[in-house]
Amino acid sequence: MARKRRARRMARALTETHPDAHCELDHGDALQLAVATILSAQCTDKRVNEVTPKLFARYPTAADYAAADRAELEQLIKPTGFFRNKTTSLINLGQALVERYDGEVPGRLTDLVTLPGIGRKTANVILGNAFDVPGITVDTHFQRLVRRWEWTDETDPVKIEHAVGALIEKRDWTMLSHRVIFHGRRVCHARKPACGACTLASLCPAYGTGPTDPTAAKLLKGPRARDLAAAAGVDPDLVPAQAAAADAP
Ligand code: SF4
Repeated sequence: MARKRRARRMARALTETHPDAHCELDHGDALQLAVATILSAQCTDKRVNEVTPKLFARYPTAADYAAADRAELEQLIKPTGFFRNKTTSLINLGQALVERYDGEVPGRLTDLVTLPGIGRKTANVILGNAFDVPGITVDTHFQRLVRRWEWTDETDPVKIEHAVGALIEKRDWTMLSHRVIFHGRRVCHARKPACGACTLASLCPAYGTGPTDPTAAKLLKGPRARDLAAAAGVDPDLVPAQAAAADAP
């Protein structure tokens, strides 16, 4: 019970800390989100967002991916890395959607995970953001943070998903995922978390993993870095101009 109460208090603090939390992969529909999520493997969302406008214009439907010229598709997605494997995934995804789902992305986890290139994490991103079906996205940030916060000591992503699902109300799962990932990218970094400038400090069992003095504000990232410092009761001017101007990683 204590764990659930603390998790929910932390989730509320995250809601106040990151009012701008959202899916950072630009997309207009479920197919675009599926494609962007495949491209985001081992690549930043920012890089994916640079590539997708041209890609989405060239391949508007699943049938377009199914019939894609491999060399042309490879060239378009090359900046996202692992482009040969990703090209194979996109063509296979297009073919599977055309053959089995009339070219539409299905809105059920059990169907989504049968599609090429779509694992459970991707399926939850699609469900939560394109179908409004609550889903918990266990990516590397989410794993690191919920373990730091002692919400769970599981290491397997599916077990983490279930453990966190038992602590947080289902209707909040999708936004919680965005907020945790936002916090991981902007505040609670893997190597040097900004504990001294973190709104969760009083609730966090891992407080002290990073520097605890106000100069930790230097570690905050993203366009709202100064707001994040102020929300944590730290002088926003301690955030260097370049940190506030930079995109979150
Ligand atoms: S107090 Fe430190 S470890 Fe805890 S959430 Fe904040 S930055 Fe992360």
